[in-house]
Amino acid sequence: MAISTKAEILKEIRSSSDHVSGQELCEKLGISRTAVWKVIKQLQAEGYDIEAVTNKGYRLLSYPDILSGSEIMSRMQTQWAGKKVYFRKETESTNEDAKYLAEEGMDHGSLVVADAQTGGKGRRGRGWESPAGQSISMSLLLRPTFSPDKASMLTLLMAVSVAEVINGLYPDMKVNIKWPNDVLVEERKVCGILTEMDAEPDFIHHVVIGVGINVNQMSFSPEVEKIATSLRLMHGEMIDRAQIIVGIMDYFEYYYGIFAERLDVSDFVHIYDGYLINRGREVRVLDPKGEYTGVAEGINDKGELIVRLPDGGTSMVASGEVSVRGIYGYV
Ligand code: ATP
Repeated sequence: MAISTKAEILKEIRSSSDHVSGQELCEKLGISRTAVWKVIKQLQAEGYDIEAVTNKGYRLLSYPDILSGSEIMSRMQTQWAGKKVYFRKETESTNEDAKYLAEEGMDHGSLVVADAQTGGKGRRGRGWESPAGQSISMSLLLRPTFSPDKASMLTLLMAVSVAEVINGLYPDMKVNIKWPNDVLVEERKVCGILTEMDAEPDFIHHVVIGVGINVNQMSFSPEVEKIATSLRLMHGEMIDRAQIIVGIMDYFEYYYGIFAERLDVSDFVHIYDGYLINRGREVRVLDPKGEYTGVAEGINDKGELIVRLPDGGTSMVASGEVSVRGIYGYV
């Protein structure tokens, strides 16, 4: 799927501070004046505030938080991550969509994005709330050539990518990662990551990394209101979701390139540990084989959580079936 005409026109008018003439757009895109005009009308109907001045052309004055395939693709800067976007106004689960599209041959790096999920998923069958018009629900499809035992580290790369974007845009926010897959702001969850893999014992068919982010929610259901927050609640203003999606793809593409060279997270330990909320804190490790407590020290090169035990020994906790909690609550 090539970048659409709509996305091209958006890109042109967004990148110019002045009017862009209809003629210029026709020539650049190889389409008629009427076709340009029709796209501009569509964009205006979607909520873009585009000024049209005779003899001057079109100028983008402002736009609300619009999430659409064209909006995202017109802003994507990456080589492969999120280069192709499959947008859904509403879907049950973007992870399920990405898995289905993977079977249909969807390319490495394709991204499914939905404005709303009706059956968003957390780990081990838990639910994830993704209300319309406020949250980000997206799933990135990867077709790695490395062995399946490395795949769990991709969750950590995604968590760091999300944390870096939030930290970069809002340096005043206290951003943390709760090992392995949650991103927190002010100790409340703003993002959950669910990585799913289809693999043989020594061969990965594909990996889907699902990311749910609370962006513009002003309230939450009673089930999660004590542990959740949104970027808007923390920042105080409406936030542009497409900018966040595009930023995450940028970071993830870069980090994936580094990861693919070594196939471990040694290059990221420092940065991950810098965000790790559990670091130096007492944690409860909810291992199906038996619960225990210790002090989290950081992650190792495999992305496992290093937990110092009361007897002085250490436990390397692999994510898989294990959850980590704070000694008194969620963190
Ligand atoms: P683990 O530590 O095992 O990952 P978790 O509670 O963080 O446990 P996840 O699978 O990551 O589990 O996320 C699912 C949980 O997140 C749900 O059970 C619910 O408590 C909470 N949740 C659901 N929707 C949201 C949301 N939009 N924002 C914050 N938290 C949510």
